[in-house]
Amino acid sequence: MPCEEWSRLVEQYRSAIKGYSEAASGLSGLPGAEFDKAWEQAEKARKISEGYRTALLDHEHEHGCLVAGRSSNRATHRQRSRP
Ligand SMILES: [Zn+2]
Repeated sequence: MPCEEWSRLVEQYRSAIKGYSEAASGLSGLPGAEFDKAWEQAEKARKISEGYRTALLDHEHEHGCLVAGRSSNRATHRQRSRP
């Protein structure tokens, strides 16, 4: 099971991607200078979402909460199913 932190990271990533997608879809039909500005904004949003993506992958790698076959520290993070 993914943990709470993972869900938070996914949510951040998701909204960053949404921001990027919105910025990118605003690119069409703009005149030169405004295009440049919108492009900058889209690039910035892309970099932010890349940062979140990296954080998400790092978390998955370090915490292992998404790997089904790995049970090493599965129960230690959120749930204590054992007495
Ligand atoms: Zn986790």
